[in-house]
Amino acid sequence: MPLYQYGCEQCSHEFEVFHKIDEKITIECPECKGKKCRKLVTAFRTNLWSQFLDDMERKVSPHKFK
Ligand SMILES: [Zn+2]
Repeated sequence: MPLYQYGCEQCSHEFEVFHKIDEKITIECPECKGKKCRKLVTAFRTNLWSQFLDDMERKVSPHKFK
């Protein structure tokens, strides 16, 4: 699961969110609860934590990884 970086347009707070590529979620700023957040980084980040989450998801729902 990739890690995305978002920036809030209201308070300029930057934060990171894990979600799937095709997942339609509303990103809410953890600081001001604003919903005007834009994606800063689209590249995948293959850190150990994201790899760990992927492994877990493979075990829980292997049908997603054909
Ligand atoms: Zn904000």
